[in-house]
Amino acid sequence: MIATPESYFSVDFSAATARFRVACRAAGAAATSLPHPLPGPGGEALATDVARLGPAGASRLLVLLSGVHGPELLCGSACQAGLLESGALAGLPADTAVLLVHAINPWGTAHGRRVTEDNIDLCRNFMDFDAPLPGNDGYEDIHRAFAPGGEVSNGQEAMGVLLDYQRQRGLPALMAALMAGQYVHADGFSYGGREATWSNHTLTQLLQEHGAGAKHVLALDFHSGLGPYGYGTAVAMHTGAALERVRRHFGGWVEAPRQAAAESPGEFYGVEGHCADGFVRALPQAEVELVTIEFGTYPVPRNLQALIDDHWLHIGGVADDPQQLAQEMLATHYPDDPEWRYAVWTRATQALRQALACLRE
Ligand SMILES: [Zn+2]
Repeated sequence: MIATPESYFSVDFSAATARFRVACRAAGAAATSLPHPLPGPGGEALATDVARLGPAGASRLLVLLSGVHGPELLCGSACQAGLLESGALAGLPADTAVLLVHAINPWGTAHGRRVTEDNIDLCRNFMDFDAPLPGNDGYEDIHRAFAPGGEVSNGQEAMGVLLDYQRQRGLPALMAALMAGQYVHADGFSYGGREATWSNHTLTQLLQEHGAGAKHVLALDFHSGLGPYGYGTAVAMHTGAALERVRRHFGGWVEAPRQAAAESPGEFYGVEGHCADGFVRALPQAEVELVTIEFGTYPVPRNLQALIDDHWLHIGGVADDPQQLAQEMLATHYPDDPEWRYAVWTRATQALRQALACLRE
């Protein structure tokens, strides 16, 4: 029986992992499972799964990465399973290998949380921790929205603080304060950590092991929850030649936050410690591009409220209905809608074509 694209989309983490493992075996990919030190909410073992296709010493390496933010795993996993099962990864160009990294943040995935087991946003954790960490003055202004025991006591009130800040300082300032990353408050929002977390170590080791012989590495990092519904925005943190290469193959409309922040500092914000920085640092001998494919779901106010409520549940122990909140966290990152899923799948096949073209350059 030939699988339909809808079937690539699993109902939960354990189903997604099982599907990924079966797809790897069927595709003849060498696969391993890297156990996470902590269990899932039901006591179950957690792991990041890894598979590789193509010649051992390939000079071109494509990396397909899923689950940097836990609730986004099911979307990225569907892209990985589909690309394996559909045969899209069969018959790779010469001298090209593919590394699939499934659920790099398994704790966050199992617990339905964006962050890792230590409240770290993995996509802000790829810092040089030997160097001084950057400050985020804007976040200092809004941290009271995320701190139990103060003037704010739940996610709704927290949103009120953020909207006040937006009225006074504008939306770009709010987004920078909220999303650029902060390295001071370990119990705060957008916390980047003070050392590399398990997922960071694991990904870095995988890249050093599998990318050592590569001259050109391109990663597709699948995310969801930001942007127009069903649209897969390509985002690149690079500037200069790497950004130009990405735009030649993924289109001139690839979003480039750091380039934009350099050109218009008040309008856009850069992100610190992004996964792209981890790839560049782990692979010093290679040309490296990381393209985030960000699949949009619902408008920012709804999705942000879910993230804030989730923070308050776990940091402050406050939620009206934890079960309903868990469903909302899943819904805002993984709509139960066959058309949204079909759009994700078709965009994944397009992104693969663009990635392989970029690697051939
Ligand atoms: Zn994400």
